[in-house]
Amino acid sequence: MNIVLFGPPGAGKGTQAKKLAGHYKIPHISTGDILRANLREGTELGLAAKEYMDKGELVPDEVLIGIIKNRLAEPDCQVGFLLDGYPRTIPQADALSGILDEISKPLEVVLNIDVPDNELVIRLGGRRMCSCGASYHIKFNPPEMDGICDTCGGTLYQRDDDKDDAIRQRLKVYQEQTQPLIDYYNRMGILVTVDGTGDIDEVFADICDMLDK
Ligand code: ADP
Ligand code: AMP
Repeated sequence: MNIVLFGPPGAGKGTQAKKLAGHYKIPHISTGDILRANLREGTELGLAAKEYMDKGELVPDEVLIGIIKNRLAEPDCQVGFLLDGYPRTIPQADALSGILDEISKPLEVVLNIDVPDNELVIRLGGRRMCSCGASYHIKFNPPEMDGICDTCGGTLYQRDDDKDDAIRQRLKVYQEQTQPLIDYYNRMGILVTVDGTGDIDEVFADICDMLDK
Protein backbone atom coordinates (compact mmCIF):
# COMPACT_ATOMS: atom_id res chain seq x y z
CA MET A 1 0.00 0.00 0.00
CA ASN A 2 1.46 3.37 -1.02
CA ILE A 3 -0.30 6.06 0.97
CA VAL A 4 0.00 9.74 1.86
CA LEU A 5 -1.66 10.78 5.14
CA PHE A 6 -2.65 14.37 4.57
CA GLY A 7 -4.12 17.09 6.77
CA PRO A 8 -3.33 20.21 8.77
CA PRO A 9 -0.99 20.20 11.76
CA GLY A 10 -2.77 18.49 14.65
CA ALA A 11 -5.25 16.54 12.49
CA GLY A 12 -3.94 13.25 13.90
CA LYS A 13 -1.66 12.13 11.05
CA GLY A 14 1.12 10.89 13.34
CA THR A 15 -1.33 9.24 15.76
CA GLN A 16 -3.15 7.38 12.98
CA ALA A 17 0.03 6.62 11.04
CA LYS A 18 1.53 4.74 14.00
CA LYS A 19 -1.60 2.59 14.31
CA LEU A 20 -1.88 2.04 10.54
CA ALA A 21 1.79 1.10 10.20
CA GLY A 22 1.29 -1.62 12.82
CA HIS A 23 -1.97 -2.82 11.31
CA TYR A 24 -0.90 -2.94 7.64
CA LYS A 25 2.82 -3.67 8.33
CA ILE A 26 4.15 -0.80 6.23
CA PRO A 27 6.77 1.76 7.26
CA HIS A 28 5.62 5.09 8.67
CA ILE A 29 7.69 7.91 7.20
CA SER A 30 7.23 11.22 9.03
CA THR A 31 9.34 14.05 7.67
CA GLY A 32 8.81 15.98 10.92
CA ASP A 33 10.21 13.00 12.91
CA ILE A 34 13.18 12.72 10.51
CA LEU A 35 13.95 16.43 10.92
CA ARG A 36 13.59 16.27 14.73
CA ALA A 37 15.88 13.19 14.87
CA ASN A 38 18.48 15.18 12.90
CA LEU A 39 18.06 18.05 15.32
CA ARG A 40 18.61 15.77 18.34
CA GLU A 41 21.72 14.29 16.72
CA GLY A 42 23.02 17.79 15.92
CA THR A 43 23.50 17.09 12.19
CA GLU A 44 24.02 19.92 9.73
CA LEU A 45 20.58 19.19 8.27
CA GLY A 46 18.97 19.36 11.72
CA LEU A 47 20.63 22.66 12.60
CA ALA A 48 19.64 24.18 9.25
CA ALA A 49 16.03 22.99 9.68
CA LYS A 50 15.66 24.28 13.25
CA GLU A 51 15.31 27.94 12.35
CA TYR A 52 12.37 27.18 10.07
CA MET A 53 10.71 24.67 12.38
CA ASP A 54 10.79 26.86 15.49
CA LYS A 55 9.06 29.67 13.59
CA GLY A 56 6.43 27.36 12.17
CA GLU A 57 7.76 27.83 8.63
CA LEU A 58 8.35 25.09 6.07
CA VAL A 59 11.88 23.80 5.56
CA PRO A 60 12.96 24.46 1.91
CA ASP A 61 11.59 22.03 -0.69
CA GLU A 62 14.98 20.84 -1.98
CA VAL A 63 15.92 19.62 1.53
CA LEU A 64 12.69 17.65 1.92
CA ILE A 65 12.79 16.23 -1.60
CA GLY A 66 16.31 14.86 -0.94
CA ILE A 67 15.17 13.30 2.36
CA ILE A 68 12.16 11.57 0.77
CA LYS A 69 14.08 10.33 -2.26
CA ASN A 70 16.65 8.61 -0.01
CA ARG A 71 14.08 7.24 2.41
CA LEU A 72 11.84 5.73 -0.29
CA ALA A 73 14.89 3.96 -1.77
CA GLU A 74 15.39 1.99 1.48
CA PRO A 75 14.50 -1.73 1.34
CA ASP A 76 11.64 -1.59 3.88
CA CYS A 77 9.63 0.55 1.39
CA GLN A 78 9.44 -2.40 -1.04
CA VAL A 79 6.18 -3.44 0.67
CA GLY A 80 4.72 0.07 0.56
CA PHE A 81 4.87 3.22 2.67
CA LEU A 82 2.80 5.63 4.68
CA LEU A 83 3.95 9.22 4.23
CA ASP A 84 3.09 11.64 7.06
CA GLY A 85 3.82 15.34 6.66
CA TYR A 86 5.04 15.06 3.06
CA PRO A 87 4.22 16.51 0.54
CA ARG A 88 3.40 19.96 1.91
CA THR A 89 3.83 22.04 -1.28
CA ILE A 90 3.07 21.60 -4.97
CA PRO A 91 6.81 21.29 -5.87
CA GLN A 92 7.13 18.53 -3.23
CA ALA A 93 4.12 16.72 -4.72
CA ASP A 94 5.54 17.03 -8.26
CA ALA A 95 8.89 15.69 -7.01
CA LEU A 96 7.12 12.76 -5.31
CA SER A 97 5.40 11.81 -8.58
CA GLY A 98 8.78 11.82 -10.34
CA ILE A 99 10.45 9.72 -7.62
CA LEU A 100 7.58 7.18 -7.60
CA ASP A 101 7.59 6.96 -11.42
CA GLU A 102 11.30 6.15 -11.31
CA ILE A 103 10.78 3.28 -8.87
CA SER A 104 7.45 2.18 -10.48
CA LYS A 105 5.43 2.61 -7.29
CA PRO A 106 2.27 4.59 -7.98
CA LEU A 107 0.63 6.53 -5.17
CA GLU A 108 -2.66 4.76 -4.43
CA VAL A 109 -4.43 6.97 -1.90
CA VAL A 110 -4.08 10.42 -0.38
CA LEU A 111 -6.03 10.26 2.85
CA ASN A 112 -7.12 13.71 3.96
CA ILE A 113 -7.98 13.92 7.69
CA ASP A 114 -10.45 16.77 8.11
CA VAL A 115 -10.54 18.65 11.44
CA PRO A 116 -11.72 22.26 12.00
CA ASP A 117 -9.21 24.92 13.08
CA ASN A 118 -10.60 25.48 16.59
CA GLU A 119 -10.11 21.77 17.37
CA LEU A 120 -6.61 21.79 15.82
CA VAL A 121 -5.53 24.57 18.20
CA ILE A 122 -6.75 22.55 21.20
CA ARG A 123 -5.04 19.38 19.97
CA LEU A 124 -1.70 21.06 19.24
CA GLY A 125 -1.67 23.05 22.49
CA GLY A 126 -2.21 19.88 24.54
CA ARG A 127 0.20 17.62 22.65
CA ARG A 128 3.04 16.14 24.67
CA MET A 129 5.90 14.15 23.18
CA CYS A 130 8.46 11.63 24.34
CA SER A 131 11.90 11.31 22.77
CA CYS A 132 11.08 7.60 22.14
CA GLY A 133 8.56 8.76 19.51
CA ALA A 134 5.38 8.30 21.57
CA SER A 135 2.91 11.18 21.54
CA TYR A 136 0.08 12.05 23.94
CA HIS A 137 -2.57 14.67 24.59
CA ILE A 138 -3.08 16.01 28.11
CA LYS A 139 -6.86 15.58 27.79
CA PHE A 140 -7.69 13.34 24.80
CA ASN A 141 -4.88 10.78 25.10
CA PRO A 142 -3.21 11.22 28.48
CA PRO A 143 -0.39 9.01 29.77
CA GLU A 144 -1.16 6.86 32.83
CA MET A 145 1.14 9.02 34.99
CA ASP A 146 1.18 12.75 34.45
CA GLY A 147 4.19 13.82 32.34
CA ILE A 148 5.64 10.29 32.09
CA CYS A 149 5.73 8.16 28.92
CA ASP A 150 3.74 4.89 29.17
CA THR A 151 6.09 3.20 26.71
CA CYS A 152 9.56 4.01 28.06
CA GLY A 153 9.12 5.96 31.33
CA GLY A 154 10.75 9.05 29.77
CA THR A 155 9.78 12.61 30.68
CA LEU A 156 7.25 14.16 28.32
CA TYR A 157 7.86 17.59 26.78
CA GLN A 158 6.00 20.14 24.68
CA ARG A 159 7.34 20.78 21.18
CA ASP A 160 8.66 24.35 20.71
CA ASP A 161 6.39 24.69 17.69
CA ASP A 162 3.33 23.69 19.75
CA LYS A 163 3.39 27.09 21.52
CA ASP A 164 0.68 29.64 20.61
CA ASP A 165 2.57 31.83 18.09
CA ALA A 166 4.06 28.92 16.18
CA ILE A 167 0.68 27.11 16.11
CA ARG A 168 -0.97 30.14 14.49
CA GLN A 169 1.85 30.44 11.97
CA ARG A 170 1.72 26.72 11.10
CA LEU A 171 -2.02 26.86 10.44
CA LYS A 172 -1.49 29.90 8.19
CA VAL A 173 1.33 28.17 6.31
CA TYR A 174 -0.90 25.09 5.91
CA GLN A 175 -3.69 27.17 4.37
CA GLU A 176 -1.39 29.02 2.01
CA GLN A 177 1.05 26.34 0.88
CA THR A 178 -0.34 22.89 1.69
CA GLN A 179 -4.12 23.10 1.32
CA PRO A 180 -3.86 23.59 -2.49
CA LEU A 181 -2.73 19.95 -2.63
CA ILE A 182 -6.32 18.90 -1.89
CA ASP A 183 -7.33 20.09 -5.38
CA TYR A 184 -4.12 18.70 -6.86
CA TYR A 185 -4.85 15.14 -5.63
CA ASN A 186 -8.60 15.47 -6.20
CA ARG A 187 -7.87 16.10 -9.87
CA MET A 188 -5.71 12.97 -9.91
CA GLY A 189 -8.71 11.05 -8.50
CA ILE A 190 -6.85 9.60 -5.49
CA LEU A 191 -8.01 11.90 -2.66
CA VAL A 192 -10.23 10.43 0.05
CA THR A 193 -11.41 12.62 2.95
CA VAL A 194 -12.23 11.24 6.40
CA ASP A 195 -13.84 13.07 9.28
CA GLY A 196 -11.07 13.42 11.87
CA THR A 197 -13.22 14.78 14.70
CA GLY A 198 -14.14 11.47 16.35
CA ASP A 199 -11.96 9.91 19.01
CA ILE A 200 -8.68 8.22 18.00
CA ASP A 201 -10.16 4.71 17.71
CA GLU A 202 -13.23 5.90 15.77
CA VAL A 203 -11.08 7.71 13.22
CA PHE A 204 -8.80 4.66 12.96
CA ALA A 205 -11.79 2.38 12.29
CA ASP A 206 -13.11 4.75 9.58
CA ILE A 207 -9.70 4.89 7.89
CA CYS A 208 -9.31 1.08 7.93
CA ASP A 209 -12.83 0.67 6.47
CA MET A 210 -11.92 3.05 3.69
CA LEU A 211 -8.56 1.43 2.94
CA ASP A 212 -9.99 -2.10 3.02
CA LYS A 213 -12.43 -1.11 0.27
P1 ADP B 1 -0.37 15.57 13.38
O1 ADP B 1 0.63 14.45 13.22
O2 ADP B 1 -1.39 15.58 12.29
O3 ADP B 1 0.26 16.91 13.58
P2 ADP B 1 -0.90 14.27 15.94
O4 ADP B 1 -1.18 12.85 15.54
O5 ADP B 1 0.40 14.54 16.57
O6 ADP B 1 -1.19 15.28 14.71
O7 ADP B 1 -2.10 14.71 16.91
C1 ADP B 1 -2.10 16.02 17.51
C2 ADP B 1 -2.57 15.91 18.96
O8 ADP B 1 -3.97 15.56 18.95
C3 ADP B 1 -1.87 14.86 19.79
O9 ADP B 1 -1.73 15.35 21.11
C4 ADP B 1 -2.81 13.65 19.73
O10 ADP B 1 -2.71 12.85 20.91
C5 ADP B 1 -4.17 14.32 19.63
N1 ADP B 1 -5.12 13.57 18.81
C6 ADP B 1 -4.86 12.86 17.68
N2 ADP B 1 -5.99 12.33 17.18
C7 ADP B 1 -7.00 12.73 18.01
C8 ADP B 1 -8.41 12.51 18.03
N3 ADP B 1 -9.03 11.79 17.09
N4 ADP B 1 -9.13 13.10 19.03
C9 ADP B 1 -8.50 13.83 19.97
N5 ADP B 1 -7.19 14.08 20.00
C10 ADP B 1 -6.43 13.53 19.04
P1 AMP C 1 5.33 17.95 11.67
O1 AMP C 1 6.03 17.05 12.64
O2 AMP C 1 4.82 17.23 10.46
O3 AMP C 1 4.29 18.81 12.33
O4 AMP C 1 6.45 18.94 11.10
C1 AMP C 1 7.13 19.83 11.97
C2 AMP C 1 7.89 20.87 11.16
O5 AMP C 1 8.89 20.23 10.36
C3 AMP C 1 7.05 21.68 10.17
O6 AMP C 1 6.37 22.76 10.77
C4 AMP C 1 8.14 22.13 9.19
O7 AMP C 1 8.93 23.17 9.72
C5 AMP C 1 9.04 20.88 9.10
N1 AMP C 1 8.57 19.96 8.05
C6 AMP C 1 8.10 18.69 8.20
N2 AMP C 1 7.76 18.16 7.02
C7 AMP C 1 8.00 19.11 6.09
C8 AMP C 1 7.81 19.21 4.68
N3 AMP C 1 7.31 18.18 3.97
N4 AMP C 1 8.15 20.36 4.06
C9 AMP C 1 8.67 21.38 4.73
N5 AMP C 1 8.85 21.39 6.06
C10 AMP C 1 8.52 20.26 6.74
